[in-house]
Amino acid sequence: MKNGLYIIATPIGNLGDISPRAIECLKSAEIIACEDTRISKKLLSLLSVSINKEFMTLHDHNEEVHTEKIISKIKEEGKSVALISDAGSPLISDPGYKLIRTCREQNIYITTIPGCCALICALQLSGLPTNRFMFAGFLPNKDKARTDSFLSVREINATIIFYETANRIQKTLEAAKEIFANREMAVAREITKVYEECINGTAEELLAHFSQHPPKGEMVLMIAPPNTSEKEKSIDIKAELARLMKEKSLKSAVKEIVETYNLNKNEVYEQALELKNEK
Ligand code: SAM
Repeated sequence: MKNGLYIIATPIGNLGDISPRAIECLKSAEIIACEDTRISKKLLSLLSVSINKEFMTLHDHNEEVHTEKIISKIKEEGKSVALISDAGSPLISDPGYKLIRTCREQNIYITTIPGCCALICALQLSGLPTNRFMFAGFLPNKDKARTDSFLSVREINATIIFYETANRIQKTLEAAKEIFANREMAVAREITKVYEECINGTAEELLAHFSQHPPKGEMVLMIAPPNTSEKEKSIDIKAELARLMKEKSLKSAVKEIVETYNLNKNEVYEQALELKNEK
């Protein structure tokens, strides 16, 4: 095996999803760069790959220092390094960015052995538009930052995908209800595992579902682009205008509604004037 860096995707639930090429590569690599050595050693053992080799960790707290160490192993010692994460595709909400960036700057051989990526699997299951999508990683924890994050993507004409966790999903949906009103969403959870499911609905409908079935496991939240669902067509434009006109000028509120919902500017303007005169 040539010295360099091999980016290898691992399963996100079902062990059978690892590719034969990935197994071969894990067997041949002299060093495994991973997030958590216990998790990776367990995976390799399940795949009958020897764990009698060097392991190096790479995570948020040590990425800078360990990148240098890994680069030196490849360049100075001519080693082959397999980069894996705890599950799924490395670098996607997982460590590795700095390492790849440095390898590229230093003309180090890199290749990818693709496989599972939770966001792609979720999008496939969702039935939401796949022609344009945007992955936005994990939402921030703090309420205001989460709302700001939602506002920053609300008008994007693409399916928006977030990684989420079971203990945060209800809070996230509460916030989403305020921003996306009747927009269609989907939550895919436990993908490739026994209880895999994907639930579609408005934020309110998803909240009702999770109040009946407490959320468990790993999950991905997806939000349809503006104006794709029939439900959104029934959006209460006047209520949205009233909300926005508290924060901004009539003109800006009209502009935002027109762009978000792809509506006729004159009609929205008329409704805004009616609202203003009612006051
Ligand atoms: N790099 C991985 C990937 O893209 O496949 C994702 C790693 S990220 C730290 C973990 C998040 O991915 C979870 O919080 C969840 O949002 C999502 N995820 C991972 N496995 C999943 C699964 N089996 N079903 C649903 N979501 C999953």
